[in-house]
Amino acid sequence: MLLSKILLPTLKDAPQEAEVISHKLMLRAGMIRKVASGIYTWLPMGLKVLRKIENIVREEMDASGAQEVFMPMVQPRELWEETKRWDKMGPELLRIKDRHDRDFCLGPTHEEVITDVIRSTVKSYKELPLNIYQIQTKFRDEVRPRYGIMRGREFLMKDSYSFNMDEESLQETYLTMRDTYKKVLERMDLEYKISAADSGAIGGDSSEEFHILADNGEDTIAVSDTSEFAINTELLLKDGEDIKSLEGKPSPDGKGTIQIKKGIEVGHIFKLGEIYADAMKANVLNNEGKASTLFMGCYGIGVSRLVAAAIEQNNDEKGIIWPHSIAPYDINIIAIGYDKNKEIASASNQLYLQLKEMGYEVLLDDRKDGYGTKIKDSELIGIPLNIIIGKQFIENKEVELKSRSGESSINSIADIETILEFFKDK
Ligand code: ATP
Ligand code: MG
Repeated sequence: MLLSKILLPTLKDAPQEAEVISHKLMLRAGMIRKVASGIYTWLPMGLKVLRKIENIVREEMDASGAQEVFMPMVQPRELWEETKRWDKMGPELLRIKDRHDRDFCLGPTHEEVITDVIRSTVKSYKELPLNIYQIQTKFRDEVRPRYGIMRGREFLMKDSYSFNMDEESLQETYLTMRDTYKKVLERMDLEYKISAADSGAIGGDSSEEFHILADNGEDTIAVSDTSEFAINTELLLKDGEDIKSLEGKPSPDGKGTIQIKKGIEVGHIFKLGEIYADAMKANVLNNEGKASTLFMGCYGIGVSRLVAAAIEQNNDEKGIIWPHSIAPYDINIIAIGYDKNKEIASASNQLYLQLKEMGYEVLLDDRKDGYGTKIKDSELIGIPLNIIIGKQFIENKEVELKSRSGESSINSIADIETILEFFKDK
């Protein structure tokens, strides 16, 4: 893609409204624009990253044996009456009326819709277990939308729902999902903790949250300094107790002492048990031919929140440092004097095509600006590798390779192997 052609409104300074680094950088890097409180448009550079994360999630969900569907965002009141959540949910549930004065809501989650589908389609234990997922827009009228897309009102979630015959089968799917989420976060090179959590409005007997460790996290988690153990401090604090007082106490798992960390919740897995299936009379025939209530689990990943969380964990004073697997582009060819020097233009074009043919996603900065502006923009956007074609190219056919993480080297433009080798370990 030619940089001169992209809708990329980069900003020198972040607008006043942005409090946290990820929000500032997403606005400055031209990734999103605000439409209303908690509601954003994703611009091309932002959408590229969002789609990369979505694809990683989709690949890992498919690999786990889950099946993708696409449910409606608009849901009828009647389904929500069945679980009593039409009343329980409060103002976070955005309610609307159609032209016939019928009540609907914008889906903040999809337990009701999927359970309705399953109870009318699955008849026998032989068809189970099933794990059904979607990647879809959710709407929650949050009390305090903030931090840009980190806590939006409209956001993208991967939500899945498993249907199992019994507790053991549910436990198996739950562990498969736990593993799948680990794979997703590992592919994104993010540092995370799995913490025991409060099940909140969704209900159910047990749940765990996946937290990206970052100073701007809204959650406070207690982690052991020697083991994997982590727990949301919500569960640990007794009435009137201060979070600080937990620091240094023995870890509840008996290993090491507690350290207090800030985390961004990016995933949440629940064992719901029979509550929803019971409320909605979702039964199947068991192996004795008797109607048996289904066991359910639900598993969510905040796809759009992950974009912000990845930035919170990977940035410096110059801008974003994308983990390679989710960078919007792999390589930026910075052509100095593209508009004036035919040799530079043609060498840049050729390199651009060659790299694209090899399967890389490449930007070519063909704009009139000088080196300073171009490298600053590239560092702000966070492209992993820059190839600079300028004076050294005219003098002796050399290009400078510069990684976002700080390494650089000079190479012959003909030496594409070394260029890509350099790229590999960054
Ligand atoms: P939170 O405690 O942050 O409000 P939640 O417990 O309400 O999250 P779930 O209902 O479990 O969240 O939703 C699954 C995932 O969706 C969360 O782990 C989070 O990553 C994401 N998510 C939830 N609310 C928002 C929001 N307002 N904006 C962006 N992502 C969100
Ligand atoms: Mg919430």
